[in-house]
Amino acid sequence: MTDSAVTRPDPMVTQDNEFFWEAAAHHRLVAQRCTRCHVFRHPPRPRCPHCGSFETDVVELSGRGAVYSWAVLHHPQNPAFDYPVKAALIDLEEGVRIVSNLVGVEPGEIEIGMPVSVIFVPTAGGNAVPVFEAVTR
Ligand SMILES: [Zn+2]
Repeated sequence: MTDSAVTRPDPMVTQDNEFFWEAAAHHRLVAQRCTRCHVFRHPPRPRCPHCGSFETDVVELSGRGAVYSWAVLHHPQNPAFDYPVKAALIDLEEGVRIVSNLVGVEPGEIEIGMPVSVIFVPTAGGNAVPVFEAVTR
């Protein structure tokens, strides 16, 4: 199902990241974890950067984390997005660092270490992508 008001582009799905986007479409945040050394592997890739193993499983994450770093993007603008875009690196509580967007927060309100939680926003093709909003304490 598509929504003509939704303009965010669909993710680039590959053989390596298909499990991640399939979970996101169902509003679940997951990551690969090496079954040999148990180190998380994100972004998804065939081989463990820690031990070299090709063995992996997929673990569901809490979606809770904190802002590690962020930047406010003004240009160049793509009509598919609302500007300014708040791009952020989020450290999830399981130890996975993920690139995403912050939503529902003004640039002047963003702080390093700010607690955040995942929500999913729809894409033009009926999928969903994880973004993060501030957790009110
Ligand atoms: Zn490993």
